[in-house]
Amino acid sequence: MNIHEYQAKAVLAEFGVAVARGLPAFTVEEAVKAADELGGPVWVVKAQIHAGGRGKAGGVKVVKSVDDVKAEATRLLGATLVTHQTGPKGKQVNRLYVEEGSAIEREFYLSALVDRTTSRVAFVVSTEGGMDIEEVARTTPEKILTFSIDPATGVMPFHGRRVAKALGLSGDLAKQAESLVAKLYAAFVAKDMSLLEINPLVVTKSQQLLCLDAKIGFDGNALYRHADVTALRDLTEEDEKEIEASKHDLNYIALDGAIGCMVNGAGLAMATMDIIKLYGMTPANFLDVGGGATKEKVVAAFKIITSDPNVKGILVNIFGGIMRCDIIAAGVVEAVKEVGLQVPLVVRLEGTNVEIGKQILADSGLNVIPADDLDDAAQKIVSAVKGA
Ligand code: GDP
Ligand code: MN
Repeated sequence: MNIHEYQAKAVLAEFGVAVARGLPAFTVEEAVKAADELGGPVWVVKAQIHAGGRGKAGGVKVVKSVDDVKAEATRLLGATLVTHQTGPKGKQVNRLYVEEGSAIEREFYLSALVDRTTSRVAFVVSTEGGMDIEEVARTTPEKILTFSIDPATGVMPFHGRRVAKALGLSGDLAKQAESLVAKLYAAFVAKDMSLLEINPLVVTKSQQLLCLDAKIGFDGNALYRHADVTALRDLTEEDEKEIEASKHDLNYIALDGAIGCMVNGAGLAMATMDIIKLYGMTPANFLDVGGGATKEKVVAAFKIITSDPNVKGILVNIFGGIMRCDIIAAGVVEAVKEVGLQVPLVVRLEGTNVEIGKQILADSGLNVIPADDLDDAAQKIVSAVKGA
């Protein structure tokens, strides 16, 4: 789960991390009031969307009067911001963050993430702040320092010194860097984050190390123990189909292809997506209905897939172990009765109660294209869609 920059900064501030003073605003009036309260003389008006690259897209404006705060707030609220991370459709700006302006001397990059190779929290640090770290990694990888933290010891003073050295900081700034690394790690672990990105981390003209931007992603599987974090969720930033799927406890990720997939088991779902690609089309989603799905869950899953206007064909691929094929078949039939079927549907069933499942589909009178195995199923749905 992701949160907005202003929320991320509030979370970090709880751990004593230095951030600029700022106030969120949902309306132009609130933005003006925030500017008055902060007092200036320089403000930054920042669009709050769950995407980076706002600066280049006009979503971050440094201004020097309350009138200009008002003008920028009027321009941004309700506008759609297209950045290199939003996709071509962009994201609507519904919230702003008004911050006191900082005089920047140097910009750095610092992030922490769960590194699956080492099973540890890793830090990524670079002098190249304000840029895409992917671009830095491609062109000047020597400018990136990466190290991981042993969970048994936590952050040690030498970690902080490595960061300070990599960023060319000495004296009091080096001390600030050491303290920052320890605080960020504490916040990361305490809140079950999966990603924490500060880009840029800056040195101000008054020699303060300050987090000027903050992006946090939380581990969805740990949200149950963080009611305070869950409360920060902004549903308007999330895909409607994914919200609906989460209500039914379905593992669903919206993608931009044309073949809707309903599969049980994450591995089989990945394999299904791969083979669709192999035969020349792309999946519209990842969907794992889980091991013990009920008929209601299958109906909900099918409805979510058919509600996607990009879906030009559906592939149901079930290997019935704990999941019974007849439940899937009954769910598909019921869902089609409710919402209709405008696109070709290929169903491949294998495993427990497969014969009963096939019979249910055959008796339903639905126009289902049966398939025998995964390869056959993928070929059939691709040719049905291309032929249609
Ligand atoms: P992003 O483009 O979505 O990553 O948004 P950021 O929060 O990183 O802001 C983009 C850029 O705006 C930063 O890299 C800074 O260069 C600039 N910026 C942000 N806040 C301030 C500020 O207080 N003062 C100045 N001078 N520049 C700022
Ligand atoms: Mn940034």
